[in-house]
Amino acid sequence: MYITSEIREELYKTWQLLLSAKSIVLTSHIDPDGDAIGSSVGLYHLLKASGKDVCIILHSAVPANLRFLISTTEFYQASDIQSKDKVASADWFCILDLNHASRLGQSVQELFTHFTGHTVLIDHHLEPSIIPDRLHSIVKACSTCEIVSEMAKSSGIIPSVESATALYTGIMTDTGGFRHPRTTSDIMRLAAWLIDCGANPVMIYDKVMNAETPHSLRLLGMALSSLQIHLDGNLVLIVLTKQQLEHYLPEETEGFVNYTLSLAGVKIGALITEWPDKVKISLRSKPEYDVRSIAQKYGGGGHQQAAGARISHGDLHHIVQTIITDCETYLHSI
Ligand code: 5GP
Ligand code: MN
Repeated sequence: MYITSEIREELYKTWQLLLSAKSIVLTSHIDPDGDAIGSSVGLYHLLKASGKDVCIILHSAVPANLRFLISTTEFYQASDIQSKDKVASADWFCILDLNHASRLGQSVQELFTHFTGHTVLIDHHLEPSIIPDRLHSIVKACSTCEIVSEMAKSSGIIPSVESATALYTGIMTDTGGFRHPRTTSDIMRLAAWLIDCGANPVMIYDKVMNAETPHSLRLLGMALSSLQIHLDGNLVLIVLTKQQLEHYLPEETEGFVNYTLSLAGVKIGALITEWPDKVKISLRSKPEYDVRSIAQKYGGGGHQQAAGARISHGDLHHIVQTIITDCETYLHSI
């Protein structure tokens, strides 16, 4: 049990501090996923139900399949004019599901340059480099939503249907639909508790996972037909060029990388996408292999089995070749 009584006590302390706040801004990472939105919305509703003035500010827009979660929240993109006033009147700033300030995105970082209130970081990534007033960095947690759920539990709070729905979403997406190695019996019990609180697993799965459009399914077709197999089948790549992605958004490639690991025998999979302002790398590995160190070489990070990086300058072909070499070197070294 990694959620010890000490951790519960610390989570309860943070909850008490948040209850003494006047106004709280919640934020999470750029290109938000189910856990980023789920933990923000889940905590939003816990705080709102306790009478707090709270809002969510993100750098990026919310992907279409997760928008149902924010519809009942006060949500801003950092570029919205209201966000400045919100930050100016906030006394607490909660950062969820990220470990480096750069993951906030430039616009959120800028908003908080002169922030003098308190900060709390709740996250499950390795090696947090942000120094907040309250730190909950639990790398064994399957998701940030797990930690927020434990905070509610430890504080004797029953999440509302909206909160439970959001928290269940992040647990579901960060465990790859209850399939990744952190899917423990404790996680299943926590998910069951959220269902008891009103989360509807069938509806959530349908909204989050069955949200393709003909346009996005065609992109998946293009991605799968361009699958590259390297290193005797140990490495599988999907590479999409700027031309192929011309009419698409980064969120429309979400989940594509998982197909690389569905091939029998593969050890490492990568999705490399070329956008006008960056090349995005998404890495995945089978449990015995660690792709985080490869992502770090490109200034990125993440988890051992799911990591990523963004490269702002560089030739796509060169990046692909370097990643193949990095994976080869890594697989030889273990
Ligand atoms: P994805 O491949 O789904 O974009 O990201 C997988 C994981 O890698 C994320 O949970 C996140 O922790 C990490 N990650 C992705 N992109 C970056 C990045 O640019 N920088 C850092 N530090 N981590 C990233
Ligand atoms: Mn997460």
